[in-house]
Amino acid sequence: MSQSQPLIIDCHGHYTTAPKALENWRNQQIAGIKDPAAMPKVSDLKISDDELRESIEANQLRLMKERGSDITLFSPRASFMAHHIGDFNVSSTWAAICNELCYRVSQLFPDNFVPVAMLPQSPGVDPATCIPEMEKCIKEYGNVGINLNPDPSGGHWTSPPLTDRHWYPIYEKMVEYDVPAMIHVSTSCNACFHTTGAHYINADTTAIMQLIQGDLFKDFPTLRFIIPHGGGAAPYHWGRYRGLAQEMKKPLLSEHLLKNIFFDTCVYHQPGIDLLTKVIPVDNILFASEMIGAVRGIDPETGSYYDDTKRYVQATGNLSDAQRYQVYEGNVRRVFPRLDARLKSQGR
Ligand SMILES: [Zn+2]
Repeated sequence: MSQSQPLIIDCHGHYTTAPKALENWRNQQIAGIKDPAAMPKVSDLKISDDELRESIEANQLRLMKERGSDITLFSPRASFMAHHIGDFNVSSTWAAICNELCYRVSQLFPDNFVPVAMLPQSPGVDPATCIPEMEKCIKEYGNVGINLNPDPSGGHWTSPPLTDRHWYPIYEKMVEYDVPAMIHVSTSCNACFHTTGAHYINADTTAIMQLIQGDLFKDFPTLRFIIPHGGGAAPYHWGRYRGLAQEMKKPLLSEHLLKNIFFDTCVYHQPGIDLLTKVIPVDNILFASEMIGAVRGIDPETGSYYDDTKRYVQATGNLSDAQRYQVYEGNVRRVFPRLDARLKSQGR
């Protein structure tokens, strides 16, 4: 692949524009938790291929063409995962439906969308219960990664830290299948935390500090996490984290974290991308926009969409063309080997 014409791979996109029937079905499912007679069947949800096509062509695919990106790693709408609702069976049915829709989108648009799975997590339930859905998504649906929610309680943080053995069954499968996880929370049901403004960014920052405190990557040297939204507050406070690690007698963060964690570029202004690309080594940065996602408006200071992150990556003075190739394509293919294999099978 020529370095002057990289594939632009957005490693963080969600199906936020699914046909309304999906949300209606979910609302019925939630009603059915209290009133079992109201519980809908999976077969009650009917969404045609044409409806899927329309929902993508008018939205994500249109913006990808306008902005010049080629491929989106596509997972179910993050705020709708809502793992705190109902029990494992509720989450399991819901995850299967959402993952199947992303799979169908990837079949309808094989050149542009590659699926990433949500897991049927549920608060207080052993994460090992997620493995059948995870394996189905990887083996049958061609998913190249997973989204792992470090807080299935939705803002109450009732699960142990990511470094706890609690999570190891998921990590063992990730290593076995060579898939990375994006650490991604869902809706906050704690009024103190706005979902996308506070809970998401808190969780990104929290994950990094948990990983500094622990020694997870000693047990799993090939495990890979993507910390979304530019890594929360971590790059901005990198000196604090380096200093804390030093006081805890941990190795340098380049050894302790950066062989295993990666930051996306979902940072919605130029100074943020400039800081990210200055502080974090380029090997650890993956292009993403989380489009269509949390921030959908146009920045009056620039006249462009806040989430058109490619503009900032293009404009930053911190990256050479070869480094931009890494961010857009090279790093993403390295962190997602199953994506790399799929692209190679397409001659890309
Ligand atoms: Zn997201």
